[in-house]
Amino acid sequence: MERSTVGDYGANYGTVNPDYGSPAPAMAAAPAANMYGPSAPPPNMFDTVPGYEGTLAGGGGGFLPPPMPSVPMPAPEQPPSPDWHIPSISEDRAREAFAAYVSSKCCYSSAPVKDGVLTNMESFNTYRYRLETFTESRSTEWSQEPYTGQPVDAGLQPAPGPWQIAAQPPAFFQEQKQTIKVPFTSSVKNCHLCLGRGRSPCTNCAGAGNKVCWVCNGSGNRSGEDRCSHCNGRGRENCTSCSGSGSSQCTTCHGKRQLLVFINLNVKWSIEKDDFVAQDSSGLKVEKLQEVSGKELFKDSQYMVYPVRGFPDVSVAQASERLIREHQGKYAQTSRILQQRQTIELIPITKVNYRWKGKPNFYYVYGNEFKVNADDYPATCCCSVM
Ligand SMILES: [Zn+2]
Ligand SMILES: [Zn+2]
Ligand SMILES: [Zn+2]
Repeated sequence: MERSTVGDYGANYGTVNPDYGSPAPAMAAAPAANMYGPSAPPPNMFDTVPGYEGTLAGGGGGFLPPPMPSVPMPAPEQPPSPDWHIPSISEDRAREAFAAYVSSKCCYSSAPVKDGVLTNMESFNTYRYRLETFTESRSTEWSQEPYTGQPVDAGLQPAPGPWQIAAQPPAFFQEQKQTIKVPFTSSVKNCHLCLGRGRSPCTNCAGAGNKVCWVCNGSGNRSGEDRCSHCNGRGRENCTSCSGSGSSQCTTCHGKRQLLVFINLNVKWSIEKDDFVAQDSSGLKVEKLQEVSGKELFKDSQYMVYPVRGFPDVSVAQASERLIREHQGKYAQTSRILQQRQTIELIPITKVNYRWKGKPNFYYVYGNEFKVNADDYPATCCCSVM
């Protein structure tokens, strides 16, 4: 089991991400827009940190590719070929499922269920192959928060590389996110939005502290005669947003005048999943099978799985090989693969043929849940004569 996220990967510390090539013109997610100041922080606000050169404010950069491991990863183990056993369902089971389905539909008469004569059952079992790859990906962004005396450590030591920082991974196949302040990147800067004043002009009154009285519309009079009682004839009223002061606390520094500026490392654990359903000739739409589970015939979970071999349905073995190749090609570039899991489910599909009022009909029973599909049910009207 290869679970550590730190350790033997340090050699390529500071790998430059090709996706970070061109610097963005401005922050992707600027702090609260302020019509009086520059909304994007000036470039000199961010120090140059070796190993983090391409980091942008507000994210938007690509994911950092993990460095090549300096120790060889364990080779995938090929599991022994299981003994593939394929079950089938009974007539009673099919009839029961059909009856439950019909009684769940208010407009379906139960006559075909009671009086229908079952002629034959055809089995069209199919397989669902599923590959899941559990990955860890890392990206960095410049961040800021009001400075309230946090430790300031930029430049005290070289910052550890993005993949050298310890993160606490969740259990395998549990999606999670973690944000970590990169050590030795925190510095204090004057707030660029309020220029270190801690307050910015009130946006509601444009800094005046008052605005046109909404009752008299600035005339001071009401209906052309009486003095406006709302503004006592001033024609203006105090701004309620800033209580008449004309300025409000800076929303970026929360009035602290200074910002702690640092790099955040965003670590994300995710499950990348792909399914393949083998073609069958039952006539039941493949999408229907997404609603049901099957009987698990095979499950294999390890650091890197090996394509399934010797499976009776060749298309499943081919899908396994293709999806494993795709996943390893796709996800090893931008993330670290922590674990893979592959399963094969048998999804039972039974086509039940019956006659009702002399006419042939059929329905499907499928999945572990014995779900029924009867699109051409012959008695679907509430008013039909029983
Ligand atoms: Zn008024
Ligand atoms: Zn105001
Ligand atoms: Zn500020």
